[in-house]
Amino acid sequence: MTTGTDLLTRNVQLLKSRVNRYGVYGLVISLSAILVASAMVSLQLTDAISLRGMVLAHQDNFALRLLDLLPFAFTIWGQYTGTVMAYHASAMILEQTDDLRAETTAWKKKSHHDATHDPLTSLPNRAKFYDIVQQAIHSCSREERAFAILFADLDGFREINEAFGPQNGDLILKQVAARLQGLIPETDPMARMGGDEFAILLQDVPSENVPTEVACRIHKALEAPFDMNRTRIEISASIGIALFPAHGADADSLVQRAEAAMSAAKRTHEGYAVFSEKFALDNPRRLMLMTELRRAIDQDKLELYFQPKIDLRAGVVTAVEALMRWNHPEHGRISPQEFVPLAERTRLIRPLTVWALNSGIRQLAQWHAAGLQLGMSVNISMRDIEDPEFAPALLQSIAAQRLEPGWLTLEITEGSLMSDTARTLDILKRLNAMQLRLSIDDFGTGYSSLAYLSQLPVHEVKIDKAFVLGMMANRNDRLIVDATIGLGHNLHLEVVAEGVETAEVMAELQHQGCDLAQGYFISPPLPNSEFVSWVRASRWRPAMAVDVMA
Ligand code: C2E
Ligand code: CA
Ligand code: CA
Repeated sequence: MTTGTDLLTRNVQLLKSRVNRYGVYGLVISLSAILVASAMVSLQLTDAISLRGMVLAHQDNFALRLLDLLPFAFTIWGQYTGTVMAYHASAMILEQTDDLRAETTAWKKKSHHDATHDPLTSLPNRAKFYDIVQQAIHSCSREERAFAILFADLDGFREINEAFGPQNGDLILKQVAARLQGLIPETDPMARMGGDEFAILLQDVPSENVPTEVACRIHKALEAPFDMNRTRIEISASIGIALFPAHGADADSLVQRAEAAMSAAKRTHEGYAVFSEKFALDNPRRLMLMTELRRAIDQDKLELYFQPKIDLRAGVVTAVEALMRWNHPEHGRISPQEFVPLAERTRLIRPLTVWALNSGIRQLAQWHAAGLQLGMSVNISMRDIEDPEFAPALLQSIAAQRLEPGWLTLEITEGSLMSDTARTLDILKRLNAMQLRLSIDDFGTGYSSLAYLSQLPVHEVKIDKAFVLGMMANRNDRLIVDATIGLGHNLHLEVVAEGVETAEVMAELQHQGCDLAQGYFISPPLPNSEFVSWVRASRWRPAMAVDVMA
């Protein structure tokens, strides 16, 4: 894309060349006129008594008159060249505006496409699919037409990814996408919903038979083995079907119900299942949570708690992890372990993360203003950072509070970092370039390869609390803790141990050279006011924490 400076330089040069040309013409003409006049006058002076002098005496008047006339001529000529130049300049501007407009439109189109499509398969992504379903609901309600959603999830894809590596896993996903696309008419949109999940919207479905036939055709299409590095791989899928209007009136419930049907199909190994109320009744709490979580976000009913992280060498608190809490008026405290995974399966994860980040950043700015200079970690999901608007919006929130991005760490679980590796790497690099810190959470549970790990632009690795909790009693846990500390340091990463519940574990971690510790032994996650009191009274209080406000 042409930059503004390129354009400016080009145009200035063009104008300059024209200005110079007209300027040179003017100078040449005036110099010539002055020369001619001077020559005539001097000729007249030398030949004053000759006949020629008499003749020239008349011409002298003519030459001087010519000189007198020149300023008028130049005025007219100046107006003429000015008009010509103005005309050229306007033409040039119009031409460039057209170019710029075309480039802006192309760029807008591309960024919209990137935001709504999966880069691996070029299919619409989950967010776009919800829009497509919403539009279909809109037009089908008016025309009283029915449509179906097929939600397909590959069986055993995780094992394939682990056995052959994520790059090869990506190749398989591409092939699966191509086979599915070959099956359905172009008018029926298909999307990649994440990892190994695909969804199809079948238009005009007079009966349940149509989607079930398509499901059978999908099974058939996947029967032929996939070829990967001369290895033949067999893949099957479980498919869930939900119908509009029978199974839901909005995009969220329809997709959710197709997904519930898919889970049922997976459990029973039946290949596909059409949604039935009994699947929803399997888990009424889940449905309740989904509906109420949306309201809780909108009404700001969630709360952030903060759990300190201690620098084991200096013996002071240097950062906190922000953890979400939902205190439901009827159902009491609901654990993030229950509602975050639910939100991750729907569009709710985005507003949820935005809420956590904004509240966290605001709190951090208040602490800094009060002299409590801590870092903060916020948990985010892969689904968040796949959104191209995520990073710019985050930077804006940080800048609005006049904070340095380096105070914020984004924690991403090892498990989620392992899907779609090439793209993940690209996204992480971009976040890293924005000076944000990145941390691999729950390390040791995600089967990452060392080669991949060493490429990730991360700053911190958090040993999963299961290993820390078990390290005194279980030899394997202990080995994993020690190995992670060694590995982390070799890759120049800070190593955090979470789930530190006893003084004994803390001392042992310190002895092993672990950098940071977090856990109930130090403090449980606390709401802001209690956390500030904790800092004041704590033996790990940082020296600069003076008058910290409550
Ligand atoms: P996590 O990121 O691994 O967070 C650490 C969890 O361990 C927290 O549970 C914390 O309370 C708990 N914990 C801390 N110290 C100890 C200890 O010494 N012993 C034991 N047994 N547990 C300890 P919590 O707050 O219930 O959060 C659970 C999970 O929910 C988090 O796991 C994280 O995956 C998710 N989560 C929490 N808040 C958010 C959020 O704002 N956004 C996202 N995307 N996920 C969140
Ligand atoms: Ca975490
Ligand atoms: Ca963790």
